Amino acid sequence: MSLTTETAVFAPPAQAANAQQQRAESSRNARSTAEYRALDAAHHIHPFSDMGTLNRNGSRVIVKAEGVYLWDSDGNRIIDGMAGLWCVNAGYGRKELADAAYRQMHDLSFYNTFFKTTHPPVIELSALLAELTPAPFNHFFYCNSGSESIDTMLRIAHRYWATQDKASKKYVISRKNGYHGSTIAGATLGGMDYMHEQMPSPVPNIVHIEQPYFFGEAAADVTPDAFGLERARQLEAKILELGAENVAAFIGEPFQGAGGVIFPPSSYWPEIQRICRQYDVLLVADEVIGGFGRTGEWFAHQHFGFEPDLITLAKGLTSGYVPMGAVGIHDRIASALIENGEFNHGMTYSGHPVAAAVAIANLTLLRDEQIVERVKHDTGPYFQRLLRDTFDHHPIVGEVAGTGLVAGLQLARNPRTRQRFENGAEVGTICRDFCFNGHLIMRATGDRMLLSPPLVITKSEIDEIVEKAERAIDATAQQLEVC
Ligand SMILES: *Cc1c(COP(=O)(O)O)cnc(C)c1O
Repeated sequence: MSLTTETAVFAPPAQAANAQQQRAESSRNARSTAEYRALDAAHHIHPFSDMGTLNRNGSRVIVKAEGVYLWDSDGNRIIDGMAGLWCVNAGYGRKELADAAYRQMHDLSFYNTFFKTTHPPVIELSALLAELTPAPFNHFFYCNSGSESIDTMLRIAHRYWATQDKASKKYVISRKNGYHGSTIAGATLGGMDYMHEQMPSPVPNIVHIEQPYFFGEAAADVTPDAFGLERARQLEAKILELGAENVAAFIGEPFQGAGGVIFPPSSYWPEIQRICRQYDVLLVADEVIGGFGRTGEWFAHQHFGFEPDLITLAKGLTSGYVPMGAVGIHDRIASALIENGEFNHGMTYSGHPVAAAVAIANLTLLRDEQIVERVKHDTGPYFQRLLRDTFDHHPIVGEVAGTGLVAGLQLARNPRTRQRFENGAEVGTICRDFCFNGHLIMRATGDRMLLSPPLVITKSEIDEIVEKAERAIDATAQQLEVC
C-alpha cells in the first residue's frame, strides 16, 4: 500500500508569489504527527537505529527549515546545532540553491559523463573546485556520497600504485574510532567496532592504528604534544611491520567528526606527513566534514597545516540540498591516472548535472558572501570563546575541543583528573534528551556532546545554542547527582 503526500514544493522563480499559497496548501494536506509516526513505523527502516524501540516511541517529524532553525510537525521551533548531519553549511531554505536545481532540471535534468561526454555544470564545478582547493588539486572525480568518495579514493590509490609499477602497495592504514562512511569499504576503513560486527566480511588489506584522543587515552603524565607524536609514530611502526613496499595509503579525518569531534594535538599531523613522505605512502585527508569552511579554512587540512595527496569531499559540497561526493586528486596522481589508459570506475550519477548546479550555487554563495572568512575571523572565534567561557570550569565538562564552527564537549566525572563516567554513553544520551526537550539539536557520541551549526549562524543564534547547551548540561549534572 502506498500513501504519499506532497510536502516540499520548490517555487519556480517566476512564480515566487505563489510559494506561500503552495505552502499553505501543502500544510493543509499534511498529516497529524500521530499519522506520520504510524506510517513511518509501518514502512520505513531508519539508518543506525533500533527500529523496534524507535517504532514504539515514535520518530520526530521535521517538516520545515529556514536558516539555522527546524520546525517539527507539532509546530516546535528547534535550533539546529548540527547543520543537519554536519552538512548544511549554507543554512536551510536558500533560494539560490533551489533556483539552481529548478533551472538545471529544466535545461538538462540528467546526462551521464561516460562515453566521451560532458556537460556545462560538471565542467564549471570542476573549475570552481580547482579555484577553491589548494594549488596542487586541479582534478575531481564525482560520486553521490561521502562513502562513495571513500570507495573511489581506494580505487584511485590502488590504480595509482599500479601505474607506478608498485602494485604490491595494497595496505591502507586508518584509525580506530575514525569514520569513513557505511559502504563496506568505508566501514572497514572506519574504526567503529559496532559497524565491523555487522559486516559480511571486511575489505582486505585494511589495518588500524590508535586514535590521537588525548583526553580519553593519554597516560596521566604525558603532555598533549608527546602524546600526538606517540600516536603518529604508531603509523611508522605499522608501516615497518607491513613493509613500506606493501603500504598504499594512510587515511584520517583532519579532526574526527562522528568519533566525537576529537582534535589531535598540534604535533600529530606534521609527524604523520613526515612519515608518509619518508615511506612513500599516500596521505589521504577525509574532508567530508572538515571541507568547505567548518574550521574557518576552506579545508580542514589547511587548518592543521599538512598537504594531502587525495581529499574526499561530500556533505558541505552541496550543503546537503542534494547528494553529491567527490575526490580531489593531487596533480601528481592525476597525471598518472590520465596517462595510463582506462580507469574502470564510475557511477551512473557521477557529476550529476543537478547536483553539480546546486554545488556551484552553494560554493559561489559561500565564497561571495565571505562566509568562510566570517567563520575564521568573527563567528568562529566568538563561538569558541563563548563555549570556553561557559564550560571551562563546569563541574562535568572535562574539555572543550574545536575551532571555527565545530566543537566537542567532553563530559567527565572529574574534569581535572580526566576521570570519565562509568556509564558514559548513557550520560551522553541523558544530556541529548535534555537538549531535545529544550529545542536544541546537539549530538552525543558516547560521553562527548557535539556542535557543528550552519556556517551562516549569527552571534545571537550562537548565544542561543550555547545558552541551551548550558541548560542541558546543568540539568544532566543535576540528574547525575540525584542518581
Ligand atoms: C559522513 C562522513 C562520511 C560518509 O559520508 P556519507 O555521505 O554519509 O556516505 C565519510 N567520511 C566522513 C569523515 C564523514 O563524516
